[in-house]
Amino acid sequence: MWIREKKPVVGVFGFSGCAGDQLAILHMEDDLVDFFTSADIKFFHMAQSHQEVPEVDIALVEGSINTSKQENELKEIREKAKIVVSLGTCACYGGIQYLGENETEFKERMEYVYGKDGKNPEFLDLVGQPQAAEPISKYIKVDIMIPGCPIAPENFVPIYTKLISGLFPQKYPYPVCVECKYKDNDCFLLKGKYCLGPVTAAGCDAICPSLEVSCVGCFGPYEGSNYPSMIEKLKEIGLTEEEIKRKLRMFGGDVLEKNLDGDN
Ligand code: SF4
Ligand code: SF4
Repeated sequence: MWIREKKPVVGVFGFSGCAGDQLAILHMEDDLVDFFTSADIKFFHMAQSHQEVPEVDIALVEGSINTSKQENELKEIREKAKIVVSLGTCACYGGIQYLGENETEFKERMEYVYGKDGKNPEFLDLVGQPQAAEPISKYIKVDIMIPGCPIAPENFVPIYTKLISGLFPQKYPYPVCVECKYKDNDCFLLKGKYCLGPVTAAGCDAICPSLEVSCVGCFGPYEGSNYPSMIEKLKEIGLTEEEIKRKLRMFGGDVLEKNLDGDN
């Protein structure tokens, strides 16, 4: 915690992804003026032309890291920031592009686009050496994660408000199912339909099940998840092992490697 004597300096940085989290900030119609006036926004990738990475109190970092150039820029951001926040599920867990890690044809696709061994000179100068998508925590220490695909303003604004006030926000200690129950929704799993609510971190207010759409886990893994039980339930519903793995990895990154023993 720092004592707030002046407006905190904030930078919003973007790496690989759809830029939806930066866009979500710019679309916060009711809170946008406060966002830009309550802090000294020194860098905003999507909203400004490029400039040098400044010293900041808080760095909000979106996107996964896919090239050596991005890796170096990320490390520079870490050196110049007091607090680093991973913004959105790509930065937190690798995002959808992390799925490529587990596909056999990934190397061939890389070579097709970037040349053999990724040494296509046209791309090297521009983007650096291509590498498999990773969450930013693979390369630097992350202080706070705000997942979401994209982030939900209802989740982002309270966390950001605490941060710029010098307070440290706590993680949600429960999964999407708790928010779903508060909404009094009928449970998909009880109806024999797929839903990843039990293994997904809360914060979205269970928006999908409330609209009769199954949760696909875009807020990233809930830390207290019981994966063996979730997998068993999904098999019971009729999903194959391969389908279950892909669904859990889509927004969960290396969640299976971290949480299950054996060959998952
Ligand atoms: S519908 Fe999905 S999110 Fe809601 S309680 Fe059931 S499993 Fe959880
Ligand atoms: S219900 Fe699930 S898929 Fe929908 S926004 Fe929340 S975490 Fe993402």
